Amino acid sequence: MTLVERDLKVIWHPYTQMKTALPPIPIIRGEGACLYDENGKKYIDAVSSWWVNIHGHSHPYIAQKVAEQLTKLEHVIFAGFTHPTAVELAERLLKLLPANQQKAFYSDNGSTAVEVAIKMCLQYWNNRGNRRTKMLAFKNAYHGDTFGAMAVSGRSAFTAAFDSLLFEVEFIDLPNINNIQSLKSQISNLKSELACFIFEPLIQGSGGMLMYEAQYLNELMAHCRKEDVLLIADEVFTGFGRTGKAFACDHVMEQPDIMCFSKGLTGGTMALGLTTCTQRIFDAFLSDDRLKTLFHGHSFTANPVACSAALASLDLFLAEDTNKNVQRIMGLHTQFALKIKDHPKIKEVRQTGTIIAMEWETGGNTSYFSSLRDKLYQYFLDAGIILRPLGNIIYILPPYCITTEDLSYIYSKIEQALEEI
Ligand SMILES: *Cc1c(COP(=O)(O)O)cnc(C)c1O
Repeated sequence: MTLVERDLKVIWHPYTQMKTALPPIPIIRGEGACLYDENGKKYIDAVSSWWVNIHGHSHPYIAQKVAEQLTKLEHVIFAGFTHPTAVELAERLLKLLPANQQKAFYSDNGSTAVEVAIKMCLQYWNNRGNRRTKMLAFKNAYHGDTFGAMAVSGRSAFTAAFDSLLFEVEFIDLPNINNIQSLKSQISNLKSELACFIFEPLIQGSGGMLMYEAQYLNELMAHCRKEDVLLIADEVFTGFGRTGKAFACDHVMEQPDIMCFSKGLTGGTMALGLTTCTQRIFDAFLSDDRLKTLFHGHSFTANPVACSAALASLDLFLAEDTNKNVQRIMGLHTQFALKIKDHPKIKEVRQTGTIIAMEWETGGNTSYFSSLRDKLYQYFLDAGIILRPLGNIIYILPPYCITTEDLSYIYSKIEQALEEI
């Protein structure tokens, strides 16, 4: 039996429609921005393997640091115990974040980082004897697949089977020059009920790479601050350079109360989640009363191997070359956007930092499930490029080490697709 035949017998993959799914592509090796299958066919990983990879696959420096950690300490319970890798990572990361971020809480993926953030907010109000249970989020938001994270995500086909079970969330439009005042009054009307406002800063990834301006995010944040609504910045996707700065929150003046990280945190090597918060949040849990404890801990909280991957990734992230690569990708994206923006099949091109998204004209059917999506996906796979359209939206978000040659090849195949599909 081939690997794929064995896979099809025993594995249930995420996000695959059972009956019509194409067989999975077996990948046996990764290097730089590329992945290779059993026959040596190369695929350029233009989506960073679901947005996690930032320095390229199987990076030798990360591999070395992980191997060293594995021979020292693979894991230890993180309740009542600590270890140097978790402490060093928290120390180094907190220094890079907005100055009000003072405490780091570890978990093991992006959804759990969000769950922790939500529980911190709800229990913050509870511990202070001031119950607030409603949350504010953006329409089309995506914060993860676990129940709390799903509840603060926009309602869609992805959540439909569970909608009646999701807790109450107030959804608002993305801010712009026209609606900012009315959004603010919406918030003011709800303020005494609102526990928190959770948002993906500057760009909604899963929602379709929807972008909005830092200026209006800043205004919304300032308004929530004034109304005493806690702010959760979900940087699971935007963190570690994607938006051109280290963190998307570096584009605004206001500082969130809580921040969530995962995806690029380990350079895409291992699963790790991190939720950081202010002293004010932490202090609401600092008590002799056991009931004020945050009872949340995953078995693999602050796994030392994952933390060592994150430390190694951070070394690489802070190296001069990485910033040069980020700037290079941003410049190339901008040039490409100019080149294709007036093409009749392109409805809109948008860019934030190293992320470029192109919305295709579809003549009506724009859903995630449109047949155009499947056609485009297959077209690029055949060309040796992994691009995973969100409905009619194609986006490129590569590992920062992608070569200019590979990136130019992706652009040229997109131009070719515009003529051929
Ligand atoms: C991917 C994502 C998550 C969920 O992270 P997982 O590790 O996949 O659970 C949460 N928030 C945002 C903004 C994301 O893009």
